[in-house]
Amino acid sequence: MHDQMLRLILEGSTNEELAHVPMPNIRELYGYDHCTGHRHSLANGMYEACKKEEAINFHFATPLAAINDFYPKPAFKVQPRGGQPYTVVADVVLACDGIKSITRQAILTKVGAKEEEEETGQAAYRIMLDRADMEGDPELKALIDSDEVIRWIGEKRHIIAYAVSSKTIYNLSTTQPDKNFAAAPSATYTTRGSKSVMLDVFRDFCPLVQKMLNLVPDGEVCEWRLRMHKALPTWTAGCVALLGDACHPTLPHLSQGAAMAIEDGAVVAEALSLAPNTDPTTLARVLKVFELSRRDWTTQLVNLAFFSGRTLHLGDGKAKEERDRQFAEAKARGEGVVPDKWASPEVQKMIYSNDCVANLRVDFDELWKKAVEMVGENGEPATAVEAPVESSADAKRKREATPLPQGDSPEDVPMESPKKTRTDPFENRAS
Ligand SMILES: Cc1cc2nc3c(=O)[nH]c(=O)nc-3n(C[C@H](O)[C@H](O)[C@H](O)COP(=O)(O)OP(=O)(O)OC[C@H]3O[C@@H](n4cnc5c(N)ncnc54)[C@H](O)[C@@H]3O)c2cc1C
Repeated sequence: MHDQMLRLILEGSTNEELAHVPMPNIRELYGYDHCTGHRHSLANGMYEACKKEEAINFHFATPLAAINDFYPKPAFKVQPRGGQPYTVVADVVLACDGIKSITRQAILTKVGAKEEEEETGQAAYRIMLDRADMEGDPELKALIDSDEVIRWIGEKRHIIAYAVSSKTIYNLSTTQPDKNFAAAPSATYTTRGSKSVMLDVFRDFCPLVQKMLNLVPDGEVCEWRLRMHKALPTWTAGCVALLGDACHPTLPHLSQGAAMAIEDGAVVAEALSLAPNTDPTTLARVLKVFELSRRDWTTQLVNLAFFSGRTLHLGDGKAKEERDRQFAEAKARGEGVVPDKWASPEVQKMIYSNDCVANLRVDFDELWKKAVEMVGENGEPATAVEAPVESSADAKRKREATPLPQGDSPEDVPMESPKKTRTDPFENRAS
């Protein structure tokens, strides 16, 4: 844990500093230290906490195979590895089965909608360097010893890097145009990448970056496709609900995907605890309350990550000149617009000060009324589900409560090719 983290944005080709955002008082402002961590530590921390709860049971190697019923008692089939399939009947099913969610497919089929993955055109290499491999080089040792999170940016690409696991591992995550998965669209989450291709993709990045990429052992280059999904018409069907990447997959450029998934868990738990009774109709409506409480917020962050990525990946031209002017101005003044939204103090404030559980408590009664209109006595949608649910007034209110400063919108940077397929969450902000 570190209370003195620094976010640095560097020009990939020259290693020149574009932005320098100290975060000196995160604990004072938001109650917790800022920390970088290995996803294994996060998952293991949650696993250990769950083991202390008597009501939680784990069934490993027992994947969900199908959802058979949604209401009044949801039922699903599991297929244990090497065993016989069997059916489980529950009161509520909360499906956190990720970007390739089977449950999402089942819900969409149930409401007569279809799966629509959104093309991102982006892929990522995940790289972990051991401390032992960096210690011998003073420049690399300084990197792994620092409390900096660094983003090197270049046209259509960037690399974000920081130390994890008590500075024993240096974690790098890249973004680059998707070539491998585009050529094989049905591929799974990850594929084995070629080291020489990876080096070629970042050939114009500075010698420091080259030095790190060259440390990656041959045969250990792992590439992920970065996936998104068109907004879903619903996250729930009867007493089954989607959480996390299953319903709002995001580009990772704001570092909020796992955070949003964890918040979903907290909000759905709070919503269920406020259920007036445990009738199936009530439970189906409470799940809708959860969706209504989370939908606008997560959409806003997904869109922000998308637009921030576009700004980061600009090639030479007027838009990049304007972006770099904003970076330079913010650096000179020590405040102001930071075009990388992940490093923007205002965006950090908006995200870190958002108390999703408190919002749910405040909004529950109002959202419940909407949920009663949306979910009938039989757990079915009261009206046909056709389009994504409209933005709720609550989300607008929350957004307006923490407005960004004038000019702090990715869309304020004119884009080279304005192929706008998503809505920028801040474009209608009052100036
Ligand atoms: C390169 C990259 C970098 C990222 N960096 C960050 C970051 O810095 N910060 C951040 O907050 N987020 C980050 N994310 C996003 C984050 O990883 C995801 O948003 C997060 O893992 C979503 O959590 P989830 O539980 O919804 O889904 P997942 O983590 O995908 O978990 C889904 C689980 O469901 C299991 N599953 C799937 N199907 C079935 C089935 N049929 N039966 C049983 N189990 C099943 C899967 O095996 C998996 O364990 C990053 C993502 C990428 C790709």
